[in-house]
Amino acid sequence: MFSAFTHPVRAVLVLSFLSVCLNGCQAGGSSSRAEGQAPFMSTVASTPPQAADDAPAPDKAGGFDGKRASALVAKQVGFGPHPSGSPAIAKVQDFLLAELKSYGCTVDTDNFTADTPIGRISMKNLLVKIPGEKPGIIMLATHYDTARAARDPRTGEVHLMPTFVGADDGGSSTGLMLELARLLCPQHGRYGLWIAFLDGEEAMHDWSDTDSRYGSREMAARLVLSGDIKKIKAFLLADIVGGRNAQFLREDSSTTALVDLFWNTAHKLGYSALFRDGVTSAQDDHDSFMSRGVPAVDVIGDFANNGYWHTPEDNLNKISAKTLAVVGHVFLESVKQLQSQ
Ligand SMILES: [Zn+2]
Repeated sequence: MFSAFTHPVRAVLVLSFLSVCLNGCQAGGSSSRAEGQAPFMSTVASTPPQAADDAPAPDKAGGFDGKRASALVAKQVGFGPHPSGSPAIAKVQDFLLAELKSYGCTVDTDNFTADTPIGRISMKNLLVKIPGEKPGIIMLATHYDTARAARDPRTGEVHLMPTFVGADDGGSSTGLMLELARLLCPQHGRYGLWIAFLDGEEAMHDWSDTDSRYGSREMAARLVLSGDIKKIKAFLLADIVGGRNAQFLREDSSTTALVDLFWNTAHKLGYSALFRDGVTSAQDDHDSFMSRGVPAVDVIGDFANNGYWHTPEDNLNKISAKTLAVVGHVFLESVKQLQSQ
């Protein structure tokens, strides 16, 4: 995800972003059943919990286990920095496949190569497919790659980030989607439910329309070829959803009806303190589907003001099991609403 502070259409954001930064902001195909060895959950469950916070119990969050999602973030961080094409991301991919298999999910994998400013990079998208009773698909998505470089908004220069583990940016939404997959793979709804784990969201060098969102662009293009893109009723993206002090603002390029669905659901569940009525703007994986005519929403923490976005400070200490549980609960209830329409 990227804050478009050089994009003319986003001039309003530019101004608020810069004013914040003056005050010290650092914002800086093949189809197969998932293959894997033994389920990883025993390993994950034995991971020491991060600084405890008061995550609601699963029975108070629609079944969503925030502590479990948080442990899944810790597991990803444990692989170290994992930008696209790295040896570490191959380990993350194996971990994701083994987890999903242990939940009984069926997973398509798409290995592809992307031509990038730093050369040709191997990438892999994973797509969980839960069948429904009727035509129509509800799609959830996250990216699991971490940023290899970022542009410092203060100096304007691109710098490599060899220690960036992306606990919140990449890790949190992926832990959230794994926990949703655990809950949803055994269920069958009216419509199909697909969960995409996308590679290559981050820029390889410097964010642009061609250097970013490789995985979602690849997946959307494949779904156009297969004809499935027309069946997608809603594309629900999570990104940067685990921050201890997270605030969620309405993303202004998203489909209004879907933003309203999420925010109304959050308010009904009592989460108005996290789901605020302000507006933010983000370029993210939802763009790849919106440009193909798919209604979409980007549920994204207020990255521009969190103080650690795209810096080495995006580490496990920033992650809250409570925030993950709240967002997970809102996703579950929103999906339930969409399944009933
Ligand atoms: Zn990012």
